[in-house]
Order: sequence, then structure tokens, then C-alpha cells
Amino acid sequence: MAPRIWLNGNLVERSEAVIPVFDHGLLYGDGVFEGIRSYKGKVFRLEKHVRRLFDSANGIRLAIPWTAEEVTEAILETLKANPLPDAYIRVVVTRGEGRLGLEPFCCCKPNMFVIVDKIVLYPRELYENGLDIITAATMRNHPNAVNPRLKSLNYLNNILAKIEAIDAGVLEAVMLNHLGYVAECTGDNIFIVMGGRLFTPPIAAGILEGITRDEIIDIARKSRVEVREENLTRQDLYTADECFLTGTAAEVVPVVRIDNRTIGAGKPGPLTRRLAREFHRRTRR
Ligand code: PMP
Repeated sequence: MAPRIWLNGNLVERSEAVIPVFDHGLLYGDGVFEGIRSYKGKVFRLEKHVRRLFDSANGIRLAIPWTAEEVTEAILETLKANPLPDAYIRVVVTRGEGRLGLEPFCCCKPNMFVIVDKIVLYPRELYENGLDIITAATMRNHPNAVNPRLKSLNYLNNILAKIEAIDAGVLEAVMLNHLGYVAECTGDNIFIVMGGRLFTPPIAAGILEGITRDEIIDIARKSRVEVREENLTRQDLYTADECFLTGTAAEVVPVVRIDNRTIGAGKPGPLTRRLAREFHRRTRR
């Protein structure tokens, strides 16, 4: 069945789901988005994603002309029209159509659309064997520029780091912040295990407050694993016992090599496996 896209209140065919070339989302990356997953037809942490969408919009002074309830309803309606057992849902709100020139407030009507599709970020065997990543030379956006907490349509910072990863023959790159501390990967948060404790950079390091990150922290704390949100250096990554990435699309992916340094035993570690298992269980509850 051809996918049906929710566009400004209507479910339309993909070929009809079009945005004007004067939309500032396209001209300037002026807009916000969310990536959400559903498992067995049930949307995972929908409320948190909708809240983050509104928080991101608020951060860029974009007033979404739908309520949180209406956005939630739009997501559920699109999922119903595209009944995939496990789906990836993309919600995008752009500044809308305007004139050439940056002035955002000449765009009087934001455009919103919802896509329901499948997504496979990494080959299945990497979840078993672990991922090889590099540190990118491109640093993460300074929090006083476009704060990484905003899930904006302006992902060029991350795309430049992703290109570095591809050039180096790997699939993902870790980005450092303006102080040289570890921030996050191009589309995922990062965790390490050291001496049985779990470490991840704090939000103040300039990262997206990942919903999967929150879930992993909660799972770890509930199983009495100490979690510390602390600044990490590249050397901390190299000397970690275990490392993994988290994200809605990626879920939990073990990392076994960083900049050609083998992490721990060079295979997914026991705590990583345990947390990934419990995360998987929660998504299907
Ligand atoms: N960091 C960045 C830069 C992201 O784009 C994402 C989402 N793909 C994440 C982290 C993970 O966030 P979440 O778990 O909410 O998907």
C-alpha cells in the first residue's frame, strides 16, 4: 500500500505531499522535527516526543498552530493509515512559506507533516558485533549558537561529522564540544561503562536530551547501576570497558572501536547487552 502522509490536516498520497520552495524550512532550515518509533502498533514515549517538539519550536519562536493533543492525534491518525507493525514516525514543522530573506515572522502559516515509514540505521549484525566509530574534527554546535537541545531542521553540523565518518570508512562519528569534551554522535547519544558504572555527558555539554538516553538512565538506576552525567574526554572513551550509543532510530548500539582503539574486550559488553535487552522489553510492553 502506498504511504499516506499527513500534511496540514489532510492525509494525502506521497506525490501530493509537497512543500512550496519559498518555505523557510527549505530555504534556511528554519523548523523543528521529531523522530519517533512505534512497536507492535503502539507509539513509544509519544508524550515526551510531542513535548520536545513544542520545546524545540518554542526555542526558535515558532508557534505551532496545532495543540499538543492535535499533534498527537495527527501522529496516531497517520500511523493508522500506514499500519506497519514497527514503524518510524517523522514529524516536521517548518516556519512556512515566506519571502526571500531571513525574516521569520513574514511566514504566517507553519507547515506540518507526518511521515510513517521504516528505518534501518545500521545493519543487524552490528547490533551483535558492535560498531566502529571515529572522533570528528567538526565540533558540536556551541550551545549559545543553535543549542543542540533544539531538534531543529538545521542538521548540517551533524551532517559534516557524518561525512567525516563515511570518509573514514565507518558509519558514525562522535563529536566533541567547544571545550573539547565528548558531546554526542551525529544522531545518537553516547554512554561508556567504567568499573561497573555508567557515564554519559551531561546536557550542559551541549547535546540533545535524548529520550532513549533518559530511558537507559532510568533502566540502569532501577537495576542499581550507578549513573553519572559527567564531562568525558576522548581518552575516557578509549579506556572504557564498554561503549554504546542510544537513539530512537538506532535504539541501543554497542561500540567496539573508536579511532582504531579497541574498546574493552572488542565485543559488546555485558552491561550494554543487559541494558539493550531491558530497553527492548520496555518498547514492547
Ligand atoms: N542526538 C542527536 C543529535 C539526535 O539527532 C538524536 C535523535 N536521532 C539523539 C541524540 C537521540 O535522541 P532520541 O533518543 O530522543 O531519539
